[in-house]
Amino acid sequence: MPANALADFRRIVIKIGSALLLDQERRLLSDWLAGLAEDISILRDSHKQILIVTSGAVAIGSHILNIQPRRSRLEELQAAAAAGQVRLVNAYQEALGRHGIIAAQVLLTPDDTEVRRRFLNARGTLEKLLEHNVVPVINENDTVATDELRYGDNDRLAARVAQLVMADGLVLLSDVDGFYTGNPRIDPQAQHIPLIREITDEMFEMAGTPGSAVGSGGMTTKLQAARIATHAGCTTVIASGAVERPLHALASGGKCSIFVAENTPAAARKQWLAGILEVRGELRLDAGAVAALRDGKSLLPVGMVEVIGNFRRGDAVTLVDASGAELGRGLAAYASDEAVIIRGRQSEEIESILGYRGRAVMVHRDDLVWFGKDDKALKKA
Ligand code: GLU
Repeated sequence: MPANALADFRRIVIKIGSALLLDQERRLLSDWLAGLAEDISILRDSHKQILIVTSGAVAIGSHILNIQPRRSRLEELQAAAAAGQVRLVNAYQEALGRHGIIAAQVLLTPDDTEVRRRFLNARGTLEKLLEHNVVPVINENDTVATDELRYGDNDRLAARVAQLVMADGLVLLSDVDGFYTGNPRIDPQAQHIPLIREITDEMFEMAGTPGSAVGSGGMTTKLQAARIATHAGCTTVIASGAVERPLHALASGGKCSIFVAENTPAAARKQWLAGILEVRGELRLDAGAVAALRDGKSLLPVGMVEVIGNFRRGDAVTLVDASGAELGRGLAAYASDEAVIIRGRQSEEIESILGYRGRAVMVHRDDLVWFGKDDKALKKA
């Protein structure tokens, strides 16, 4: 196992549980947060991009509004989240700001990662923030999320974010220092497993042992998150955050469990794209576009000769050459009615044609799978 679990990652999603941020009285532990911010600053100095997924809004808000979370109704908790989220994100902004790092608040609902049309937007925004060297501080949009439509826990949200931005590392920080074969607090035989290459049903059984302090839902949701993330090409680390400078501890060989990704994020994304069965339209490309796509570039409107079918933004379309042969497949950044109008036009003209400043590309290279043999994008993956 590597001494530094974070060494190979370039883009890391770090999930922080409420228990790490707050003391028994639900007051923010600002010294702990200061240590975390210092760790993040060091990781960024070694050219790693960081996204934070943080819990704590409900806990902080219920303290501010003086309500008991366990005895409160949904709307009360949602009100608490609204009050708590401001303070939560301010605390991050302040801690990161001391290192000259800009924080940006992003609140997500499942539609933003599960519905393709919305996912293109959420991803576009997160990518822009990273491009601007900002650290996104993400939470679920608890104030409007309803019970039926929630991530429910931030482990899953963090895994979805990792998948969305094609992160290669996900770190779940909580009060548990890894995966055990049983509950180490009551079972002296329980063994810590440092490296996991496959998440089995048996592991879920171990995690879900009733009465287990480690496994009371906490480890199950972590395993579920690890399953989503590793499947999306993102290696997942479960480690304890209950120490000062938790990421420094991890980078210095601290105890953890590493769930190794099945693939790279790019290869996993392409596999997923290739597997989308419902194709809603067809784009016929000119020779220039075919050559550009073969080189791993995005499809620009100027390269489209014909738009066939009725599709919406985010739907899958096939990409064909002049002879009609299918060369690849991708997610459309524009609906068919708009694609027809911008077909063959330069990206700079889009605003004057459509009346709003849309995307420069018709199919982004991250949303494209090329079936041709000399696919550079696939080779990169
Ligand atoms: N989004 C919730 C909050 O900020 C936390 C959910 C979780 O703990 O996983 O309070």
